[in-house]
Amino acid sequence: MRERQTGRMIVIGGGLVGLVTCFELSEQGFQVTLIDPEPASGATHYAGGMLAPIAEVQYRQEALFPLMLQAAALYPDLIERVSRASASPIDYRPRGTLVVAADRADARHLQELGDYQRLHGMSPVELSVTRARRLEPALSPRISGAVSIPDDHQVSPRLFAAALLDVLKQRGVKIIRERVRHLEGADPCLAVHTETQVIETGDAQVILANGLGAAQVSGWYTQDNPLQLRPVYGDIMNLRVPEYLRPLSERVIRGFVEDRPVYLIPRSDGTLTLGASSRENDSALPNVGAVHELLRDGIRLLPGLEECELLEVGVGARPGTPDDLPYLGRVGRNLIISTGYFRHGILLSALGAHAVVDLLLGKKLPAGVDLTACDPWRHVGGSAPAAHSGAAQHPGTPPF
Ligand SMILES: Cc1cc2nc3c(=O)[nH]c(=O)nc-3n(C[C@H](O)[C@H](O)[C@H](O)COP(=O)(O)OP(=O)(O)OC[C@H]3O[C@@H](n4cnc5c(N)ncnc54)[C@H](O)[C@@H]3O)c2cc1C
Repeated sequence: MRERQTGRMIVIGGGLVGLVTCFELSEQGFQVTLIDPEPASGATHYAGGMLAPIAEVQYRQEALFPLMLQAAALYPDLIERVSRASASPIDYRPRGTLVVAADRADARHLQELGDYQRLHGMSPVELSVTRARRLEPALSPRISGAVSIPDDHQVSPRLFAAALLDVLKQRGVKIIRERVRHLEGADPCLAVHTETQVIETGDAQVILANGLGAAQVSGWYTQDNPLQLRPVYGDIMNLRVPEYLRPLSERVIRGFVEDRPVYLIPRSDGTLTLGASSRENDSALPNVGAVHELLRDGIRLLPGLEECELLEVGVGARPGTPDDLPYLGRVGRNLIISTGYFRHGILLSALGAHAVVDLLLGKKLPAGVDLTACDPWRHVGGSAPAAHSGAAQHPGTPPF
């Protein structure tokens, strides 16, 4: 039987990373407080929800691969525990992913990507176009190549966040709906300053997990903010598939169309998510060109999209970091940073939350997971309180 922990935890930020962290802490028996003016309102609200450590492989991101694979391995158990605790639907669909190529150049790209994935121990399965269309009959007959990735799954981030909030409420997690402005000190962190109150930390541990918002929370570093977060905007759409075409697809369909990536994520309620652009032009409203491209490329792969109703066009801001790796680690005896999950935060939330619990309990991280590269201090020299520089991988300090 699991030993129940005692102690207070303050989690700042209730996007999927903060919510899964609160859930894992409550699983351990900790008394949790969540501070967020509007939980699940950030990137989580707009995310596609692909749990795709293989399909999302990008060149020169080798340090991310083991984290993504480990996170994917943790997901089924996470989903099972949340589903046991809440009757809210999650729409977790472990049905695999098809990656398709629009033209011959895209097919070559897909082949090269497959070679790179295999080099890193992953196993995409090449399919003939006929075979791919047998699996997904709505695919255009004009595609030039296809790969099946049975182990890349999906979840609905909005439903998952709602289910997690439901569990947290049932378990008596206190939710303070305010924005955090400032932390008083780092080592120790003495108090959390919100817009209207000062919350003394006492013996509590504080986890700063508020996505892009972490860049605005000051007080815990001495010189420049070590968290170099930037918004990377993603345009995304939700469509309703007409009854007579359902299901338009069973699996996630990702594609390359003249080298542009596009994806389609089917949901159990008969809707589809079509995404996503990647823009760094500081425009937080939907971009006409990006939306046009996504619709055009999506229709080229799955012509039936033309029959769908357009329910929603939205833009989310991914919390990007200079090296695409999260900031995850202890920065003070009662302060842990967990942010910067960029393009993969829905997937990586499982690992991030697990790592926070391991850091708190002074436990070893799962085999093969090395968080050294995620050190929150890695982009600045000299701001870290001397005793804690480079603390990401070393629980070092006792939990309380
Ligand atoms: C279009 C798009 C598609 C994506 N698709 C995928 C995908 O398919 N798979 C995947 O794994 N990832 C995907 N992502 C990335 C993923 O959404 C993010 O990495 C993830 O949501 C980060 O989670 P988070 O909890 O750290 O941040 P967020 O989801 O941004 O949540 C931050 C939370 O902190 C709160 N907050 C902010 N400032 C403060 C403050 N000062 N005080 C208190 N609370 C505060 C906000 O209200 C919010 O609730 C996508 C992102 C976008 C934009």
